[in-house]
Amino acid sequence: MDANRDIKLPILPTTVIGSYPRPRWLRKTIKLYRQGRIGEKDLNEAFNDAVTSVVREQEIVGIDIPSDGEMRRDEMVEYFAERIEGFKFYGPVRVWGNNFFNKPAVVGEIKRTKSITVDEFLYLNEVTTRDVVKFTITGPYTIADWSYNEYYRDKIELASKIASIINQEVRELQDNGAKFIQIDEPALTTHPEEVEWAVDIVNEVTKGVHIKLGLHVCYSDYITLSKYFDRLKYDQLALEFANRGFRDLDILKKLNDIEIGLGVIDVHNRSVEEESRVERAIEKAMKYVRPEKIYINPDCGLKLLPREIARRKLQVMVSATRRLRGVLAKKGYSYIVL
Ligand SMILES: [Zn+2]
Repeated sequence: MDANRDIKLPILPTTVIGSYPRPRWLRKTIKLYRQGRIGEKDLNEAFNDAVTSVVREQEIVGIDIPSDGEMRRDEMVEYFAERIEGFKFYGPVRVWGNNFFNKPAVVGEIKRTKSITVDEFLYLNEVTTRDVVKFTITGPYTIADWSYNEYYRDKIELASKIASIINQEVRELQDNGAKFIQIDEPALTTHPEEVEWAVDIVNEVTKGVHIKLGLHVCYSDYITLSKYFDRLKYDQLALEFANRGFRDLDILKKLNDIEIGLGVIDVHNRSVEEESRVERAIEKAMKYVRPEKIYINPDCGLKLLPREIARRKLQVMVSATRRLRGVLAKKGYSYIVL
């Protein structure tokens, strides 16, 4: 992490997981594009303006490490599968209730013929006024798990091919100035019998990477995951706790030297948290983890919330964190290095 030596952040840096609600006008613009009423140039301009707007919104609220809100991505697996050779789409499948997912199929050798997200990162890095942004990449295990495998011998072979592609992508982002990348693996513990090899697959992504790498795992069984904490080659684990009523916090004891991205905001509930509840959760986490190892974030991406509620939730998170910084300053903690 030498490259990040000079980047100072306030103690308990605040960040997001990745996605942010798309502005209403952007959703309308995307619709016009799909109807063929505007062209790609107009759509791209709208995406850029939306990124500028949600980055600024996070900065105004006081987020130390903003993201681009994943404005350009409809869905986290589809977005990557569309940009990797060897994937094909047969059409949407029903995933839960009335929600459909455009499930990709692997029908040939998968290849990365060009960069997937580098332009996206460069735009974000240009518009932010902060020293560091968080950039998110969907992890290889989740891409493999959410795809049909019609080409490779088995899921392990497929996942490891994807891991090598994601590793190339991360290294190219690193070469282009990324300082903090988060790999998203919501599927990681979905099949308990696969976690053993899935952890090796997820670690493949870290090869040759010296910038800060986080791993975000949500909707998951953390008791199972915690058995593998020692094997994870990541600098940070971003986990959800608010939605679970902060019940699993004691798994933090097993983190050793990995930082925690502490989920303190419930993204599945529209009611805005009490500041005191967020404060208490962070205080409780500090019983298990030293404050310089804690980053503060919502449980997961905010994209399913109304924008105004997402903003207010971040405000509460920042305000609770700032109060605790005051307490920590008296004990000599004020800054950390990224
Ligand atoms: Zn998540």
